[in-house]
Order: sequence, then C-alpha cells, then structure tokens
Amino acid sequence: MRLLFTIAVTAAAALAADNGVLAHVAAHAERFGQVSRAIWESPELGFHETRSSALLEQALRENGFEVRAGVAGMPTAFTASYGSGSPVIVLLGEFDALPGLSQTDRPEKSAVTPGAPGHACGHNLLGSASALAAVAIKEEMQARGLKGTIRYYGTPAEEGGGGKIYMIHAGLFRDVDAVLTWHPGDANKVDLSSSLATNGGIFRFYGVASHAAAAPERGRSALDGAMIMLNAIEFLREHVPQETRIHYVITNGGSAANIVPAYAEVSLMARHPDANELETIWSRIMKCAQAGALASETRMEFTQGTNYANVVPNDVLAEVLGRAMRKAGGYEYTPEEKQFAEQLEKTLGTAVKRPGPEQLDISKAEGSGSASTDVGDVSWVVPTASFLAATFAPGVGAHTWQAAACAGSSIGRKGMVVAARTLALAAVDLFENPAEVEAAKQAFQKRLAGRAWTTHIPKDAKPPIDGVH
Ligand SMILES: [Zn+2]
Repeated sequence: MRLLFTIAVTAAAALAADNGVLAHVAAHAERFGQVSRAIWESPELGFHETRSSALLEQALRENGFEVRAGVAGMPTAFTASYGSGSPVIVLLGEFDALPGLSQTDRPEKSAVTPGAPGHACGHNLLGSASALAAVAIKEEMQARGLKGTIRYYGTPAEEGGGGKIYMIHAGLFRDVDAVLTWHPGDANKVDLSSSLATNGGIFRFYGVASHAAAAPERGRSALDGAMIMLNAIEFLREHVPQETRIHYVITNGGSAANIVPAYAEVSLMARHPDANELETIWSRIMKCAQAGALASETRMEFTQGTNYANVVPNDVLAEVLGRAMRKAGGYEYTPEEKQFAEQLEKTLGTAVKRPGPEQLDISKAEGSGSASTDVGDVSWVVPTASFLAATFAPGVGAHTWQAAACAGSSIGRKGMVVAARTLALAAVDLFENPAEVEAAKQAFQKRLAGRAWTTHIPKDAKPPIDGVH
C-alpha cells in the first residue's frame, strides 16, 4: 500500500514536471513560429544566413541566453548558453535554404521569386524549434533548480558547406555531454537510423590545346584524362561494396570539337553507410583520377568538396527521445490543413499511404537512409540523437517545392511544436537523470568500437564562406 502510494506520488510529480516543460513550450510557440515564418520569407543560402541567424540570436538573447555570434570563423555560426557546469546538453539548429526552390505557401508549384532560394528542407523550422525548446528547457531548469548547461548551436550551411565540422575543429563540442536534434519530415519518427557518409570534390585536368585535325599529336586532351578516370570508375563500380554510391557530372569538357581540350572538370561524390569504409573506396577513386592523368599525359588537381560522416545512432538517447515523443504527442489537421495536404498529395504522382501527423512511429529500426548530413560528424565526437517531426504533408520529401510550401504553412509550425516538445522533454529528462547521460556515453563508445572520426576538412581550413553551396 505504502509502495503503491509512493509510486502514485512519483508519477504525479513526474506528470507535473512534464506539464511544466510543455507549458513553457506553449507559452513561446507563437513567438518562435513567427521567427520560423520570418526565416522562411527571407531564404538565405549556406554561410549567408545573416538575417536568419540574427533573428534566432535575438530571440534567444531576449530569453536570457548568453549569445556568442560569429564563432569558428563563420559570421552566421553562433552559440547560445544558459546555466553552468555539467551535464552540457546541446541542441542543434540549422537555418540555411536551398538554391532555386523559391515557393509560396500555396499547395501548387508557384515561386515567390523564380530561381531564388527556398526553404525546401524546412531548416527555418529546424532552427526555430530547437531554439523554442532551449528556452522552455531553460525556464524549467530555473523553476526547478536543475543543474547543468543548456546550449543552442546555430550551425550554418548544412546543405553542403558543413558548418558543424568547423565548429568541431574549433573545439565547441569538446565539453559537450550529449547532442539532441531533429529534422523536418513527413512523419513523427524516432528510431536508430543512420545516414550515408559522403565525400566529394572537383577533379580538374590540365592538358595542351592544339588543332584537333591539323596537329592532334601536339595536343594532350584534358577531356581524355577525365574520361579515362570516369571509365576506370565504371569498372571500379563492380568491385566496391553493394551499398556504395558514386555519382558525377562533367562540368567542363572543352569548348569546341576542333580544339584539343586544354581543360576539363569533373564534379564527383561517393557515399557509403560507413565513413571508414568510404575512406577505402575514396582512395581507389583517387587512383582512377591519377590513372586518367597518367594515361593522357595531363595534370590532375583535386579540390576537396563536401565530406560528411554517417550518423552514429545512440541507443540510450534514442530511448530518451522515444519516451519524450510519446509524451509530446502528435497533432491533428484542421479541415483547411487536411485539404492543403490532400491537394499536395495529388501533385506527388504516387498514392501515399503514410501515417498522418497524429501518429507516432517509435522503434529501434536501423538503416542507413539515403541522405547525408554534417550531424553525422557531430555524432562521431559526442553522443548524438535525432528524430523527425511531421512538418511536411504525408508523402512529401525534402528538397521539393511541396516541402517548401509546407515549411511556410501552419502544418509546418505545428510539426515544429511537436519537435520542440520532444526536445524539451528529452533534455529535461537528461538533466534530471545524470546516469542516463553516462549510459549514453557508454552506448556511444560501444557503437564506435574503437573507431575515430576522420575528415578531409583540415583542422586549420577556413570555412568556404564565399564559395557556392
Ligand atoms: Zn535538411
């Protein structure tokens, strides 16, 4: 009887605590929803998210966070911190847009400005929901005297620029105990899925121009170098692990058929579920490129591009996120939102049978997925977990005009609140139970099994803030 009573009291106290965190989220949801919409209305490409990062910095500063802007050599990278000592829990925020995907919030393909960037990956929601959660966590820590530090990391240029890698190099993750983040999706989902490690860059071949008919013997074709490289890669394809992806385009193959091309350029990417395995494949790709130069008597130069590690899932943090999402719950569409989702569904061209936003998909499913992200690199240096929240209508994939329309709509903002509720409940759970943070570290070591993070981005490399992403 006594025991039962104690359990009942503990459960009631836990429920009251959960309600407290969720009330803080609710109190700030409107404000951060507006921030997400303002970022959506002003889409900025990677490393150029000046207005977007300023909006988030301002909202966090006015809620009592100490903001450091322009960290790790990137004007739009920032940290926002509250509290002191351990554990140090970090929430990641992204806010970069995609080129050419400008879109209104109507369920039909209609650009605001044709050719301009758009928020087709929902990063306007990603950055805003994590900030909303950070504020709610801070208020709960204050209310209950919870020990530790909550930080928000504003991470630029996820879409190819790899802002997080420069933040790792700058030591910003060195004292961090756990990282929680999320991504917009078409379902509410927590599992142990990973992402593909990716590496890529530009291969430039330099030859000797000559008249292709009058003096071909004097020429050395840069295009030949590129084509020998790519043929060698086609042969290589047969002898790499099944899950490997190698994709490329010839971005310059010469200018006229009667001139031996003095210059040729190939942009190539390779992916594999495991970053270490990808390293081996990559060294063989480099041999193909060298073979191209050798056989054609041209010179090859390589410029490093995007290099992201695969996500290392964390069993303990995924468990914490799953519990949090069960308490957070999904949401229902209004009749207008239902109509909006149905209209979008008609544009997808395939029948969509997916759970709606009221459903939760919580499992221990593993898999490599098909995308790549610099969250992967973070997950090799700190215990990290991520989940999806239903900000897009069922069936809508990222990097589409449909996703950009959802990211500016009320369903985007409702999904964002599911994300914030889940993040806030999970982080408070970790602050309440330091043993869970320790268990997450052990789960992290177990998954790494002695392997270490490697990257082709040199420690002293300057972020390519003026490049194209
Ligand atoms: Zn994304």
